[in-house]
Parts: sequence; C-alpha cells; structure tokens
Amino acid sequence: MTSLLSGRFFQRIIAGNSFNKYKEVFDQAGYAIMLIDNTTNRFIKTNRAAAELFGYSQDELQKMTPLDLSTEPEEAAHVLGSKTIEQAVRPARRKDGKIITVKVQTRFLDRYHISLINDVTEEYRIRRALEMNEERLREAQRIGHFGWWEYRPETDRYIGSEEIARIYMDEPSTLSLSYQENISYTHPEDRSFLISSMEDAIEHKKESYSMHYRIITPAGKVKAIAVNSNAKYDENGRLLYRYGTCQDITETQKIMDDLITARRQAEESDRLKTTFLANFSHEIRTPLNAMMGFVNILTSMKTTKEEKTEMVKLIEINSQRLLRLINDMIDMSRIESNNMEIKYTNVEINGFVTSMASSIVYEQEVAGKKSLVMTPVIDKTKHNVFQYIDELRLSQIFSNLISNAIKFTEEGEIKYGYRIARNENRYAVTYFVSDTGQGISSDRLGDIFKPFVQYWNEDVPKVQGAGLGLAICKRLAELMKGRIWVESIPGKGSSFLFSFNTPMMIE
Ligand code: ADP
Repeated sequence: MTSLLSGRFFQRIIAGNSFNKYKEVFDQAGYAIMLIDNTTNRFIKTNRAAAELFGYSQDELQKMTPLDLSTEPEEAAHVLGSKTIEQAVRPARRKDGKIITVKVQTRFLDRYHISLINDVTEEYRIRRALEMNEERLREAQRIGHFGWWEYRPETDRYIGSEEIARIYMDEPSTLSLSYQENISYTHPEDRSFLISSMEDAIEHKKESYSMHYRIITPAGKVKAIAVNSNAKYDENGRLLYRYGTCQDITETQKIMDDLITARRQAEESDRLKTTFLANFSHEIRTPLNAMMGFVNILTSMKTTKEEKTEMVKLIEINSQRLLRLINDMIDMSRIESNNMEIKYTNVEINGFVTSMASSIVYEQEVAGKKSLVMTPVIDKTKHNVFQYIDELRLSQIFSNLISNAIKFTEEGEIKYGYRIARNENRYAVTYFVSDTGQGISSDRLGDIFKPFVQYWNEDVPKVQGAGLGLAICKRLAELMKGRIWVESIPGKGSSFLFSFNTPMMIE
C-alpha cells in the first residue's frame, strides 16, 4: 500500500486510458482509494471499493467532498485526511445513514492528496467490546474485592490481577511474588496452616481446594482472605501450575464474628434471665409466704405478747427482704435504660462511714450474725474528707457490699470504710468492705459483677439474693466515674474495693 501512495501511480490514473493496466489495479483494489483536489477539496477519482464502502456510486462521489462523508462538519477534514494528519481512525457516514469506522492513510502531493481507506468498524467494535469487558471485569473485581492469580513453580512467581495487588499491598499495581514472599505476607499464626494445606494438596494431587487465612499488608493491616485454588499436574504428578481467585473477606468475616458474639451474648443473657426468673420467683415467694403465715397465726390463734412481738419482727424482716429485692430490680432496670440520676454533692466521708453503724447492727440482727465484729475504718489524722459524689448511691454500694459480707461470713470480722493514698501531690480515696468469710474462687472473680450471676458452695446452703447486688454496685461506681474490683482468697475472705474519679478535698 505504501508504494501505491507514491504520486506517480496516481498521476498515471488521472492521465487516462494509456494506463489501463494501473487503472484496473486502482479499480480492483480491495480497499477504498480516493483522490482529493487540494484546491476544490472535491473527490477527483474514487475506486469501486470506495463506492461500496460509502454506498454512493462513483459518479455521485465525484460531486462530493470529504465533508459530505463526515459525521460532524468540523471534523470533515479529518475523515479522509487533512494537511496535518497522515493517519487517522474516524467515524464516517454512509449514504444509507449507517455510521462506520474507517482507518485513513493520506499522502499529500502538489495538486491533490490521496487517501487509502479501510473499513475497521468490526475490528473497532470488537476492540471496544473487549475494552469494555476488561473494564467491567476490573470493576467487578474491585467491587467484590477479589482478583485472579497464577503460580508457576519453574519461575517461582505468583502473578495476579490489579485487585490482588490492592488486597496484598493496599494499592492497585501488578503483583509478582515468589513462594517465600507469599508466605511472608501471611499472618505468622496462619503460616504453618497455609504451608501444610499446599503440601497436602500437592501430595494428594488435589485439583481444586479452598482456604481461609489472614495476611498482613506492608502498612500492617490484617486482612482475612478466601483463596480458591486449581492445580494442574503433568503425567508424572509434578505440579505444572496453580491458579485461582483470592477474595478479601475481612468485612464479611468481621460481620460473621460479630454475629457469633451477638448470638453467644443473646444465649448467655437468655440463660441468665431464665436463671433469674427461677431465683426471682423463689425470692419473692419465700418472704411473702412467711409473712402470710405469721399474719395468719396472729389473727387466728391465741399468742402471747412475746410471740406477737417476735412474729411482727419476722414480718418486718421479710418485708425488708422483699423491698430490697424489688428496689434492686427497679434500680437495675433504671440503670439499664440510662434513667439512673446521679445527684452530686460534697459528702463528708468520715461522718458518712460512722453513721452507717446503726443500720449495720440491724442487718446483723436480721441475719442472725450478731457475733461478727463490725469495724468502721476512717483516716483519723484527717479532720474532714470531702468527695463530690451522690451520697445515696454511695450508701447503696456500701449497703450491698456489707450485706453480702454478712451473708457470706460465718465468723470473724467485717471492716468497712476508706483509706487515703497520696500519689505525688494528689490524694486518692479507696473505699472498701472486707470480710473473713468463705471467699471467692479465682475462676469466678470475673463473673460476679455480671447481673443475675450467683455462686454458692455445694456444702453451704443457698443464701438469699437475686444476683443483682454486685452488678448494681459496678454500674453505680461507673456512673460516678469510678470502678469497683475484688480481691479474694477462698476460705480466708474477700475485699471489695471501689473508688471514684471525682473532685475531693481533705482538711
Ligand atoms: P447475690 O448476693 O444476690 O447472690 P451479688 O451480685 O451481690 O448477688 O453477688 C454475686 C455472687 O458473688 C454471690 O452469689 C456470691 O457467690 C459472690 N459474692 C458476693 N459477695 C461475696 C462475699 N463477700 N464473699 C463471698 N462471695 C461473695
């Protein structure tokens, strides 16, 4: 075609009949040839292929200019060659209105220029379709966070699509990793799993297998991936190559983990609620039955004055027990629904601790444990110790812990109060209730602050309570910017300690 573009051949064509031989070549050429006058910009001569390509007769073409074949007027000059563009791919319009894509090569001579034109409509349609498919595939991989990869033992290289590089290196590029490099990307805890899975696949000549494991990107991100592998072996069973897909399933895995945790929590809370309901109904029924029984006796039988006094006392004790249970329930539901109000005031703690004594004695009496020694502990070197706190809630925490201490201690001493520690220029007050009771085994320490959790030793009869006391103490401490913790030696006793991160003043 290049030799055709030399001007002499066409000069002969224009010259006329004496060059019939060339004219035949011109007419019979399998591609369109068009000669255009440089001054008028009209087609001087066009061949049969040109007429067929554009759907006009050769005579019709002779009356036309390249502009008439253009899809857009301003691009006309480009359609069949311009003074500046020697080769171009352009859209053109046929006589029947159909738009085609043509590749135009132009040669400029003195008086005219020659364009050789090929119909590349189909080629370009396929090329565009291919590009579009590639783009769609790339997009699908990006959206689905998956890519393809291939590994050949003879080159010891993993190659992979853009998305694989994004998964492994957090940015799209071309991936090329050796076997060892691939292992080093794998999370240390999952490496031996990956190696043994691959070795097992080769040993058993597995043709396809799937794995889930974690990788760590150069930026330190831990990702969960799902890898599907296919393997090809030669007739001797030697691995030829492996290929497959790799998907980043970090998000899905996280959702799955969260779901599993949520299900466990739901099951646990369901179990706790069932236990609670069983305990709760027992806890309500016992004092109610007792009270009704005593009321019955008081009204229907002859009783002495002493018996009456004793029974009224028992009714009072049981109603207290019931009231405490109901109060616990109300408090717990208030805390859970964020409706527990905290009223801060400056509480003088020395006076507060001392004032608890009378209610403690009453509690001891009710529990029938008068022999327990109850010792308030305050810092006598300080005149006044103030903490900005809710007095009612502070007394609720103490009261819960002291009644537990009485409940779980048969003999010895219960100390309650506070200690001051000086750290650099700051004072810190730690409150405590410690006993010499049965203690709590270390495997239970983590659980006792959860609602509805109760433990009792098999050899000790079950003591009353709905398992809410410590949970309430914990929530109250947290509401007042504090915390509560426990130290215990089974058989020796327990110490419950708590503190609040609120302002204080010491005189
Ligand atoms: P309740 O006392 O109503 O059972 P709590 O939440 O107050 O519920 O206590 C939960 C569990 O913690 C108790 O069942 C008991 O096993 C343990 N516990 C609490 N205080 C003490 C203590 N001072 N000594 C030994 N065990 C205790």
